[in-house]
Amino acid sequence: MRQSKTLIPTLKETPADADTSSHKWLLRAGYIRQNFSGVYSFLPLGKRVLDKIEAVVREEMDKIGANEMLMPALQSADLWKETGRWDKMGEELIRLHDRHDREFVLGPTHEEIITSIIRDEIKSYKKLPLTLYQIQTKFRDERRPRFGLLRGREFIMKDAYSFHDSEESLDQSYQEMYQAYSRIFERLGLNFRAVIADAGAMGGKDTHEFMALAEVGEDTIAFSTESNYAANIEMAEVLDTYQVSTEEQKPLTKVDTPNQKTMQEVADFLNHDLDQGMKSLLFKADDDYVLVVTRGDHEVNEIKLKNLLNANDVALLTEDEAFELMQASFGSLGPIGVPEKVKVICDLAVRSLANASCGANQEGVHYINVNPSRDLPEAEYADVRFIKEGDPSPDGQGIIEFAEGIEIGQVFKLGKFYAEKLGASYLNQQGKAATVTTGCYGIGISRTMAAIVEQFHDERGITWPAHVAPYQIHLLVLNNKKAEQRELADQIYQQLKDAGYDVLYDDRDERAGVKFADSDLIGIPYRITVGKKANEGIVECKVRQSNEQEERHQSELLTYFTDVFN
Ligand code: ATP
Ligand code: MG
Repeated sequence: MRQSKTLIPTLKETPADADTSSHKWLLRAGYIRQNFSGVYSFLPLGKRVLDKIEAVVREEMDKIGANEMLMPALQSADLWKETGRWDKMGEELIRLHDRHDREFVLGPTHEEIITSIIRDEIKSYKKLPLTLYQIQTKFRDERRPRFGLLRGREFIMKDAYSFHDSEESLDQSYQEMYQAYSRIFERLGLNFRAVIADAGAMGGKDTHEFMALAEVGEDTIAFSTESNYAANIEMAEVLDTYQVSTEEQKPLTKVDTPNQKTMQEVADFLNHDLDQGMKSLLFKADDDYVLVVTRGDHEVNEIKLKNLLNANDVALLTEDEAFELMQASFGSLGPIGVPEKVKVICDLAVRSLANASCGANQEGVHYINVNPSRDLPEAEYADVRFIKEGDPSPDGQGIIEFAEGIEIGQVFKLGKFYAEKLGASYLNQQGKAATVTTGCYGIGISRTMAAIVEQFHDERGITWPAHVAPYQIHLLVLNNKKAEQRELADQIYQQLKDAGYDVLYDDRDERAGVKFADSDLIGIPYRITVGKKANEGIVECKVRQSNEQEERHQSELLTYFTDVFN
């Protein structure tokens, strides 16, 4: 492609709203433009990268026998009401209506539609298992669209769905999909981890998220220093390896702690370490009140709490609500003497405390010498805290460290949730009606594009891995007005195109400095510069990632590129 004939509007300055490296470089190098908050156009370069990513995805999907199809973005609200997601998805779901006041949604994902198709079309076990996928635009009215393509309100997703007559069959497809995802992200050049993730309330069980490691990642991954254990910290289990204290139990005593609110203030005031204090937080889990107690140096993990209680919704009470219930404000709450309607759940670490302190549910008063085994006979114990760096790895090998990750894909054993809601049943081998078992699998195509840029850029621009770069070779002619340069460049362009390479040819009447700067910004892996030595047939070849630079004769170019692209 001749650069004079395409649209690559590079920018010298970083736009003020660019909040991450990928956002900044994709805007500056002319790949994307924002239309409004969370909604982007892919300019020609951006479209080419999307196509490359999609090609890899399609190849790997085809390898495991998944069939491509295409479903509509515009969906009738009826199906969403049947599955309950019309209410459950709240404001994230984009709703609209037509001239007859019929309600619609713009699909944030396609479980409803695909399951309704399967319900109508699959009547017998003989048609199972079946895996279908599409690459399609999704809509989510995200609370905070940000980071450019990483969290958009309109974005491109590859979503796949598999249908089965048994759990074993689902297990197998899940494994195949997991392997295919690993191959896809490897081929895209990403540094990623597959991590154990939260299955949420949709009745599913096993699920893994694929995380591209990047500082801007919104998820934290807990991984082992010794094994390949990795989990989203939302899910990482904490082993019960706490040392039970052998300290002699002292009598429970109330002490005044005026104006001491935070855990640290109370610990300082009572002259003990933070981990000798018990932190109490009040939650409403659906319709029930729960007081959750952790050690002072630990944090409550609401996802674990939600899963433990099997609740749809878990939320902290406000200080006013807490006061009304307990007659004490946040700093003075504790698990001793709580009203009957409040359930007490203590983290496992609390069980091994001895002579600890906690709020006394009385303004400005704490208990000291609390011994949970003696003083909290009613409490339930469970793992409800976030794992910390330095904790033992849940698989017993090594210790935990953290890294930030961007969720680029997820595989999920959904089970029967949607099939039951929508009545997707088939006749099994015994001729009896049975409900279809389902898996669902997503890859954020546009998010993956940004994740790649997060990992592949330097101070001058993008440094694409070869498989996803918009073009393979960037050909620059430094001085358009010099006939010998122009002629040689034209020849090389034709030669490379004939040999089947994707070449971007900068034939613009721009200064050399502008061409070099734009080329660095755009980040095509190999660059050929035709300049002063054109009359000798000599050009300069440069590798974008390594900056290696070498002169070559025109006649050597084809062998050189055959080498590097193999
Ligand atoms: P997140 O937790 O980041 O909001 P999610 O878990 O809700 O994502 P899924 O429903 O699992 O997302 O969607 C499948 C994939 O689609 C995700 O793994 C991610 O790569 C991509 N994706 C989800 N939301 C967005 C978004 N707002 N913008 C771009 N890509 C997205
Ligand atoms: Mg997800």
